[in-house]
Amino acid sequence: MRLAISGQLGFEGLTDPKVLETLDLCLSCKACKSECPSNVDMAKLKSEVLQKKYDDGNITFREKAISANVDMVPKLAGWKAPLVNFVQGTSIFKYAAEKLSR
Ligand code: SF4
Repeated sequence: MRLAISGQLGFEGLTDPKVLETLDLCLSCKACKSECPSNVDMAKLKSEVLQKKYDDGNITFREKAISANVDMVPKLAGWKAPLVNFVQGTSIFKYAAEKLSR
């Protein structure tokens, strides 16, 4: 992480799996922004790194499923919502979702 902030990795280095893994821990709460003596905005850094990752086409199945089907959510509401909630609560659905999201 220190290498990315110092500029030694360059912009391409920001999508290094270790950088993504580290920034995955950030909640983007911006609590650290006022504490940092160099005024590093970790939330902004995280959003830039994620945008670079998405621009490069490195999108997981889970990310695609959520972003591509967001407009389906209202259609699933109504009488179907309890059915969807039931299916999503089953262990086989959770197992399949876990396997497909990797
Ligand atoms: S924004 Fe800063 S304080 Fe908040 S989770 Fe991310 S690194 Fe931690």
